[in-house]
Amino acid sequence: MPSVFITGASRGIGRVAALLFGKKGYQVGINYLNSEKAAQSLAEELKGMGTAPLLLQGDVSDRSQVRRMFSQIEYHFGGLDVLVNNAGIAQQKLFTELTDEDWDRMFSIHVKGAFYCCQYAVPLMQNRGHGSIVNVSSMWGQTGGSCEVHYSAAKAAVIGMTKALAKELALSRIRVNCVAPGVIDTEMNSILEEGVLEELRQTTPLGCIGTPEDAAEAICFLAESRFITGQVVSPNGGFYIG
Ligand code: NAP
Repeated sequence: MPSVFITGASRGIGRVAALLFGKKGYQVGINYLNSEKAAQSLAEELKGMGTAPLLLQGDVSDRSQVRRMFSQIEYHFGGLDVLVNNAGIAQQKLFTELTDEDWDRMFSIHVKGAFYCCQYAVPLMQNRGHGSIVNVSSMWGQTGGSCEVHYSAAKAAVIGMTKALAKELALSRIRVNCVAPGVIDTEMNSILEEGVLEELRQTTPLGCIGTPEDAAEAICFLAESRFITGQVVSPNGGFYIG
């Protein structure tokens, strides 16, 4: 049975991706930070599909916690086929008001988190002779988002990391790709002021906000492709066309 580890799988895009992989018969490693009940109910749903999910509580920005989660993955799954670096946070703030803590937290979760997870996943994938990594960036990492300079910079770093790692790992038959979603209807966007989401909907050429399924389907597609590596796929309703 193939295995996948998804960070930030308790809610939103990660949760829907976990269910899609479960339907395809994967053993799913569900990482969460605080939402224990939501993660447990996801695990129950996956068990109902006949899979044996693994719940992994931990902060992706902490190397020792990531190391612990990967030793559990190795013990229970015996290796790893797919890693999805999805965990993330959002914050809206004027650039001039950003603190060192804001900046470091954003980079620790999005960039260091993906760095740590990739570092522990790669040897497991090399042992299997193949692997697939999907990093979740954002359209704002491609276009820049006002009042989200630290978020945009971290998400642009994730794209750079994807491209470089794809080149370095191709000989090991490990593909590395990136999904850069546009505006997706999840709890993450509850930080937006009233009316902003509607404005974003109106400026999206397809005239709607994305669903977690739109992003999760792109994640699964890249995870299971054969000849695609180092690429960025952007489910964004035409908001940004690169
Ligand atoms: P969400 O609904 O807010 O869920 C965020 C997930 O990340 C939760 O499962 C949360 O876990 C987890 N998480 C946060 N910090 C963590 C940490 N330090 N360690 C481990 N897990 C952590 O967000 P979403 O909208 O699904 O976003 C998923 C990814 O897509 C993020 O990388 C986000 O930047 C990206 N994205 C989202 C949008 C959008 O419009 N929603 C657009 C572009 C890109 P707990 O709940 O357990 O704490």
